[in-house]
Amino acid sequence: MAEEAQERPRKLSPNLRGTRAKVGKVAPASGLFRCEKCGTEVPLKKGAIVPLCPHCKKGLSFIIIAE
Ligand SMILES: [Zn+2]
Repeated sequence: MAEEAQERPRKLSPNLRGTRAKVGKVAPASGLFRCEKCGTEVPLKKGAIVPLCPHCKKGLSFIIIAE
C-alpha cells in the first residue's frame, strides 16, 4: 500500500506573477492584483471577473503581484 500523504501545493499554472489582467476579463489566478493606474491592491480569486479598480475607477488593467 503506497501511501503518499505528503501534501504538495498544487501548481496548476506556471508562476503568473507580473502578468497583466484586464478589467472585465477572467482572473487567470488567485492572488493579489495591483491597479496599474494607482497601485491599489485587490485580492481576487481565480476565475473571478476582474473588477474596475475600487480606488481610481480608471485603471484598465491589474498586474498580478502575488499568487
Ligand atoms: Zn486604481
